Amino acid sequence: MTADILVAGRMPANVIPQLDQHFHLHVLPTDKASADAMIREVGTRIRGVATNAAQGLPLELLDQLPGLEVVASSGIGTDALNLNAAKARGIHVAVTPDVLTNDVADAGIALMLAVSRKLCMAERNVRAGRWLKGLGLGYRVTGKRLGILGLGRIGRAVAKRAEAFDMSIAYHQRTPNPDVSYRYHDSLLSLAADSDFLMIIVPGGPATDGMVNREVLDALGPDGTLINIGRGATVDEPELIRALAEGRIRGAALDVLANEPHVPEALLTMDNVVLQPHFASGTEECRAEMGQLVVDNLRAHFDGKPLLTPV
Ligand code: NDP
Repeated sequence: MTADILVAGRMPANVIPQLDQHFHLHVLPTDKASADAMIREVGTRIRGVATNAAQGLPLELLDQLPGLEVVASSGIGTDALNLNAAKARGIHVAVTPDVLTNDVADAGIALMLAVSRKLCMAERNVRAGRWLKGLGLGYRVTGKRLGILGLGRIGRAVAKRAEAFDMSIAYHQRTPNPDVSYRYHDSLLSLAADSDFLMIIVPGGPATDGMVNREVLDALGPDGTLINIGRGATVDEPELIRALAEGRIRGAALDVLANEPHVPEALLTMDNVVLQPHFASGTEECRAEMGQLVVDNLRAHFDGKPLLTPV
């Protein structure tokens, strides 16, 4: 029997045509009234969900899908997936690790260069006919100290790229990696004090929420730059805005924000800040590979096989 699948979040372009071939597909409308009507009609029949890391699987939706067996999410973050509730119901959950590692690491390096070399501000100047006016100078990346919060798959890929910039690399996470020679700090505070650039690439969730607080920002200091390609909530955003406004840190490049897609007004006016719309995995190739994994995980489950990339 063909399973009913709910597409509950934006999907890479290759997902829906393939799912449509193999399943009964229901694409959740974006307006709430139509979405509620669809769930009332098909909710009890849904056996699989395709979603993404940002949209996740709200508890309210989960509660209305009593026959749900499997969730395949495009992305690696599980903070919006209500993993505990899903697991408690025996629902299998898959994400898309590895295929996004290199592109997200590339974006981290691009952001570090963009903020330090004023690439976005300089570009705005040129387009506005201002050329060098008011631009000042950037600052160097090569040879500086890079602190990485979270030396996992993406963190390691960032470190590998940073080696080519002759950066001196240190990291913090809960457990040191035995197979790397980078300096390990057992506290984020001491890592921040040992960094010119501090790059965040830990998962979101209660264990990391607000971890980059006022103390950490002050340890990073007026010559330090924060780059966040992990999750917005890891940074205490009001404290970050205060630190930037008061010159207590030098700059920030943020792919992620605490309350997306809301952007705090103050950040929009700061020339020492580079902002991106949670776009670090946004290449055609990466999104196609992520989409394929979503499809392949759902197909594996309904073919009676184990998930390819379970959480
Ligand atoms: P990994 O699981 O491979 O690495 C996560 C690292 O974070 C581990 O080294 C882990 O080490 C460390 N970590 C976890 N919890 C803590 C903690 N409480 N304190 C300190 N360190 C911690 O994940 P990936 O590298 O593949 O991805 C990392 C995150 O990047 C994702 O969870 C996602 O949120 C984000 N991401 C963002 C994207 C974007 O578009 N901006 C795209 C893809 C991912 P240890 O367990 O020893 O602490």
